[in-house]
Parts: sequence; structure tokens; C-alpha cells
Amino acid sequence: MKWKKEIEGLKAYQPGKSIEAVQKEFGLSTIHKLASNENPYGCSPKVQEFLAKEAFNFALYPDGAATDMRSTVSEHLGVSGRKLIFGNGSDELISIISRSLLRPGVNTVMAKPTFSQYALNARIEGAEVREVPLKDGTHDLVEMLEQIDHETAVVWLCSPNNPTGVVIDDSALTAFLDKVPQDVLVVLDEAYFEYITNPTYRNTLSYIDEYPNLLILRTFSKAYGLASFRVGYGMASEPIIAKLEPVRGPFNTTVLSQAVVSVAVEDQSFIDMCRSENEKGKQLIEKFCTAHNLHFYPSDTNFILMEVKTDSDIVFQKLMEKGYIVRSGNVLGVPGYVRVTIGTQEQNEGFLRQLSDVLKDQGVAI
Ligand SMILES: *Cc1c(COP(=O)(O)O)cnc(C)c1O
Repeated sequence: MKWKKEIEGLKAYQPGKSIEAVQKEFGLSTIHKLASNENPYGCSPKVQEFLAKEAFNFALYPDGAATDMRSTVSEHLGVSGRKLIFGNGSDELISIISRSLLRPGVNTVMAKPTFSQYALNARIEGAEVREVPLKDGTHDLVEMLEQIDHETAVVWLCSPNNPTGVVIDDSALTAFLDKVPQDVLVVLDEAYFEYITNPTYRNTLSYIDEYPNLLILRTFSKAYGLASFRVGYGMASEPIIAKLEPVRGPFNTTVLSQAVVSVAVEDQSFIDMCRSENEKGKQLIEKFCTAHNLHFYPSDTNFILMEVKTDSDIVFQKLMEKGYIVRSGNVLGVPGYVRVTIGTQEQNEGFLRQLSDVLKDQGVAI
């Protein structure tokens, strides 16, 4: 068959092992999945109540314009509905953006390490990928600007960055946006926006009016705890949204996901609770790292990238045998570290106890 040469040798996304698979393999009754930055508190209880009482007609296609969800989200954010685009997760928006702007002969600039989907989609479209190493866990925007040339179509910024958790400094961001050529789309992925507690962070929403070449991505998969429903959204000036809309599948969000997002957005007290509990968990893990002299990056997310001073894959494997699934730094481009999702207090304490044992067994002086 006449496959695109670009997809030759590409590997399918390797999701973390499922809870069921690990339970079976190691004969454990309880598994704590702290690998994919899902919300350990689930979602707003209002969503369950709503689903229990509401009836839906599953034979009909969803509203392709997502009218109700668009108006709830628009009202919540104070952003015009014409400046919003919804995706089947922000993952799909990354692919829509790539499909719309990337092709052989153009290039795209991003950090390294960062969220893997930017580079994957760029490769599928045959674009050249220019990766700029992080500095202290955050984007080196001076060097990224340097990498932009006439053939650059998209720049990807991830703030806070996955896998380091570090937020981009506001003055560095605006200095960068001021200098990027107007015909280069800057995508600012804020998947962890709701978890940011850094006092220096300035809400970027108004930037979509100041910078007509900026698109901000957010998602309902992380703090909202709705990863299974697959809804993410992009915010940008109207001309950008108008260009991307025809590339979007007509029914890319479902009847259920649209309804549920509207309910979840109304319950901001749930988000506030998650943010403050997350903060406590973060402090507990940071205290452990400091006490044991393990380096970590200052996180504004619901995960922490922490040093383990031994092979990350071994730590990952040993923790899994004890019922805690984390991500090995080896697969994230940060060997010697693991990325752990901040869980409930009980999960965090359990994780730290098991990690202590694993590191001692490995001969790490802690
Ligand atoms: C989790 C994550 C996403 C994907 O979110 P979905 O909306 O579930 O597709 C996008 N970007 C980053 C940085 C993420 O960590």
C-alpha cells in the first residue's frame, strides 16, 4: 500500500499499564495509578447526580456546534464563543492544528522534553521538528525565538510544562510573544491551568486579544476529572478559529461529554477543593525530596518530577510491584527521575513509604 513515508517506524502511544493488568500480574488488591495525572478525587459529584437522572437519545448525532457547552464555557471564561474550538481531548486539537499548518518543507519549534504529541503529529505531517532543551525545567524562550525562521509554522509552548511541571515566567512569555513573527502560530498548552498556584502567574486569557497569532489550549481531562469524556478546548482570535473549524470532525465531542462539561463547569467549588488538596500533597512530596536530598522541579501541576538517584525503570518496576504506578523518567526524556501524579493524602503517604523502601533497597543513601 501507498503509506505516507512519514508514518514509517512510528510506534503507537504506549499508555501506562491499566489497574486491572497490574492487579492480575502481581496479585495485588489495591492499585494506585499515579501515572497519567488524572484527578484522584474523580470529578464533581454533580456530574454523577446529573447522569443518574438525565435521559439521552443516543440515536441522534450530537450538536456539531456544541451550542450549550460553548455558551457555558464562554460565560465561565468570559471569552466569546466565536473564539473557542472544542476537541476530542486537547490531543485532537493538537492534531487539527498540525494538520492545518504542518507539511514537508515547514518546521515547528518546541521544548525538549515536553508533551510528546506535538512532535508526533509534526512528524506525521512531514514537518521538521526543532527541539530546544529546557533550562531549569522551563522553556528557553530566547533560544526558541532564535530557532524561528521563514519556514516556521507553529511554536508549541507547554505551561506548566509536562513532564517538569514548571510554569513559563510571564515577562519571558510576553517578551517572546512580542517578537514572534505574526504569521507563526504560537500554541500555549495550559492543560494544568486549574492547578496553578504560583503567585507570579498572570492569567493569559487576555493575551488572545493582544496577540492574534496565539492559541491557548486547555482541557477537562485533568483538574475537572473528566478524562474519559475526552473534551479539550482552544481559545484564539476569531480568524484562527475560523481556519481550524473546517478541519475539525463535525461531531468530535459527544452528547454525553457536552452535557457533562456544562455541569462540571458550574461546580467551581470542586475545582477549588482539588487545587488546595493538591497543594498539600505537593508540599508533602516536596518536603520528602528536600529531606532526602532528591532534586525536584517546582511544580504548578498535579504531578512532580523527582530525582531517584538510580535507574528510573527499576524504581518504576519495584513501585509497581508494591501497587503504585508512576512514569519512569526514561520514557519522558529525563533519566534518573520519576514523574508521580499527586494523589490523595493516603496515596501520597503510601507512595512515599514505598519509595523510601525501594530506594534503600537500591542502595540510594536516603
Ligand atoms: C494530558 C495532557 C494533554 C491531553 O489532554 P486531553 O485533553 O485529555 O487530550 C495535553 N497537553 C498536556 C501537556 C497534557 O499533559
